[in-house]
Amino acid sequence: MKKIALFMVLILVALQACKKTETSEMENPELRPELTAEALEIPDDPTHCHNALTDTNLPWNNGFIGSFAVRYQVTPAGTILLEGDIAVPAELITNTPSTEERGASKAGVYLWPQARVYYSFATGYPTNLRNAFLTACQKWNLYTGIQFIQRTTQANYIRVFKDGNSNYSYVGYQGGMQNLSLADSNPGVAIHELGHALGLIHEHQRSDRNTKIWVNPGVANTGNFLRYTNSYNYTTFDWNSIMLYGSSPYGSSWTMLKLPGNTPFTNTIEYWRSQGSYALPSSSDIYAVNYMY
Ligand SMILES: [Zn+2]
Repeated sequence: MKKIALFMVLILVALQACKKTETSEMENPELRPELTAEALEIPDDPTHCHNALTDTNLPWNNGFIGSFAVRYQVTPAGTILLEGDIAVPAELITNTPSTEERGASKAGVYLWPQARVYYSFATGYPTNLRNAFLTACQKWNLYTGIQFIQRTTQANYIRVFKDGNSNYSYVGYQGGMQNLSLADSNPGVAIHELGHALGLIHEHQRSDRNTKIWVNPGVANTGNFLRYTNSYNYTTFDWNSIMLYGSSPYGSSWTMLKLPGNTPFTNTIEYWRSQGSYALPSSSDIYAVNYMY
């Protein structure tokens, strides 16, 4: 989110020494350091991605962000999705490679001013999905103190709606109205998407993931499994992160396996769903958001 992802930042640094080197870049609490397309691996064939949050019925398209080839999906509402559940501004995508500079405001990860997140529900948005979203707000508020406030006239806010069967969010604060699609009534999914909205990337896409998980080469360079070489890793790799996907079948193998030993692991959202409940942010997720805000 675990953004390309030009947008992602996440997670931490276990060592104080490392943190120190980043201090200068972290001084402005509103703006996270830019992650450039150069930091990303080029997507290969995202059509093989297995992502519980992805609407696999949406076709994949080819385009470019800067000089880098990407594949993306377009939702019924016209939102561009790069990684199954990561929305990006449509103007970032071009049909031909471009060497133009991207605006820093587009490429950085921004945080919500004063840790206040305004939201509004689209007209006719179903009650059960509203409740899932509000539950997710309550949990993030409980653990991080971030305030979720129903919008009245604020210019900058999340518009919560249902875009087909997709669940997705932009990463971090965008400015203006930013869409968040929630189509799954399990609050764990809403907590995950709000994690993106607060600025988190996927746990399995952090820079050090290759020391913790084996990623099938067939998907390692695809949208949901790209590795961000300069992510901010605020904690050690967290198997309980709500931003971590689980292993899923991939041909005769798996998309990801836990190292050492190559054992499959389960996504916390799907685990708790199977228990008739829903996942919560892990202690590392909470630490990361509290650190960021
Ligand atoms: Zn996600």
